[in-house]
Amino acid sequence: MSFPTYDEAYAKARDRRPFSNGTEGYGWLDANCGSCVHDKAARYGDEGNGCPLILVSILGRTPAEWLDGPRDEQGRYSIEGQYTCVYRRDENDPGPDEPTPVPDIPGQEELFPRDEFERPARMFSDTRPSEVTSCR
Ligand code: SF4
Repeated sequence: MSFPTYDEAYAKARDRRPFSNGTEGYGWLDANCGSCVHDKAARYGDEGNGCPLILVSILGRTPAEWLDGPRDEQGRYSIEGQYTCVYRRDENDPGPDEPTPVPDIPGQEELFPRDEFERPARMFSDTRPSEVTSCR
């Protein structure tokens, strides 16, 4: 499934404000959306092509694509980790090598329709090379 349009995101969103106050909101947006490929156009001046999930949140609904982040025993969370956006991808991350969903091979017959087994969204992990340290 592809990245949602504004209308799709708004329709699926939870009917509650995502943040308690501006500090939480701007803190989370800065930490997560500030380097995400899906809001890159808006950051570079093309504000009509910003991330629709941000717009949904500004209008007082919590996008379904924002999963609750880790909480401690008392239910506390960090500002930057309050939610995990399943579509977040760093603007410098080239993304997976394979297209998603993986297309059907031309001419291959299907035993079952795939649609109902495909995930509604795919969470990306960063594919950029990173340093690994060993601890012995
Ligand atoms: S996809 Fe998620 S992390 Fe990226 S800009 Fe949109 S809301 Fe922010």
